[in-house]
Amino acid sequence: MFKRLHYQLTGLCALITMAILSVFSILWLTISERTLRDNFNLSFLHHFQSLCGSLEQQSILTYAFLLRMEQTNDCMIFLWDGGRPLAFNRTESHAPYADMAQEFYENYLSDSLSDAESGDSDTARILLLKNQNVGVDHIHMGALSAMDQSIAQQRGEGPVLVMLSSTASLRDRVVRQRIYFALLSLGACSALTVFAWIFTGRMLGPIEENQRSQLEFISGASHELRTPLAVILSSVEAKPPCYEETIRSESLRMGRLVEELLTLTRLYHSGSKEDTNLLRLEPLEPDTLLISFYEQMDIHVRSLGKRLRLELPDRTFPKIRADRDKVFQLFEILVQNALSYTGEDGVITLSLTADSRGDRICFAIADNGIGIPDGEKDKIFERFYRADSAHSSGEHFGLGLSIAMEIVRLHRGTLRVTDTPGGGSTFLCRFPKA
Ligand code: ADP
Repeated sequence: MFKRLHYQLTGLCALITMAILSVFSILWLTISERTLRDNFNLSFLHHFQSLCGSLEQQSILTYAFLLRMEQTNDCMIFLWDGGRPLAFNRTESHAPYADMAQEFYENYLSDSLSDAESGDSDTARILLLKNQNVGVDHIHMGALSAMDQSIAQQRGEGPVLVMLSSTASLRDRVVRQRIYFALLSLGACSALTVFAWIFTGRMLGPIEENQRSQLEFISGASHELRTPLAVILSSVEAKPPCYEETIRSESLRMGRLVEELLTLTRLYHSGSKEDTNLLRLEPLEPDTLLISFYEQMDIHVRSLGKRLRLELPDRTFPKIRADRDKVFQLFEILVQNALSYTGEDGVITLSLTADSRGDRICFAIADNGIGIPDGEKDKIFERFYRADSAHSSGEHFGLGLSIAMEIVRLHRGTLRVTDTPGGGSTFLCRFPKA
């Protein structure tokens, strides 16, 4: 399901970004092509004007001069004098374009005449500037100008110049620009798709993880509830002696499990919503807190034939901001575990330390019990995880340390386990100072 969603989200993200990219790219390409054409036209006009200037300075026009002008300006020159084309217009290289030039010339005559009659003589100097297709791939641009502005010349009686220049280089540049552009867009689209794939993958990761842990939670809870329910059911059906007692004890066990599940859900929920209503935070002295807990727990531990020790260094500790009841619940879970996983000579030691800067206070609950193998040290904090199969029934649902972890997390602290020197486990709960 997540795989399909991943594909769909990637497609959607890539499509949206590509659509935005395409719109802006096409706009940019249009503007850039227009600028390219404008610059090309300007450069043509510039050449045309300098050619007119050179021609005006000549008293005699020779073929050699005209050929040189054509080469210098990379163009083709056609000339009329007194309404008649010069012989130069009929050379072999000019012949294919002669009709086109003649058409320009005639357009020029009719347009410049009407401009001259309306008194607008300035427009006659450069009258025509246009692109025209010749054959398959020769596009030429033509312009027509009078070499000076007398009415007589505008009527076609003076010398008239038509200059043709190839736009092949412009076309090549436009085509090249479009190809580069298409390649760049293709590259950008591929990069965007990869990015969308990674991005949506990262986005979906925590959701997928969350769903997985929810499913595990539900399956763990169902599994744990199934056993007492089965026992109750078979007791009701078989009615063995003391079956009422069995039902009672299994119901109590189920009640405890439901209570633990509810506690865990409530803690988790309050943490995820940043809702601190569940916590009644107040500044607490860590040593006083530990002493109170010790006094409360000592009798219970002794009644089980084990020993609870308190080790407090002779120094003062900074206060922590914590919920007293929740911290007691945390200590209870850890001490209950220590009681469960130590033998008859079990000794549980409560101690308090602070890091060198005094920023974090560390409560340690150490036992001399069976210890936890290194490979299990991370797993024991997972819900319903039980490392020790000997305790896989009865009181042990594998939720205690998950609840402990949630309590510590809500206080922005950390919880981890190490080995006790000489054997056993030591749980270290670090809390930030208030
Ligand atoms: P449980 O209800 O099974 O004790 P917990 O979440 O409290 O569930 O603990 C998970 C597992 O961690 C336990 O099943 C046990 O194997 C291991 N464990 C916890 N505390 C200790 C301890 N003090 N010594 C050895 N093993 C421990």
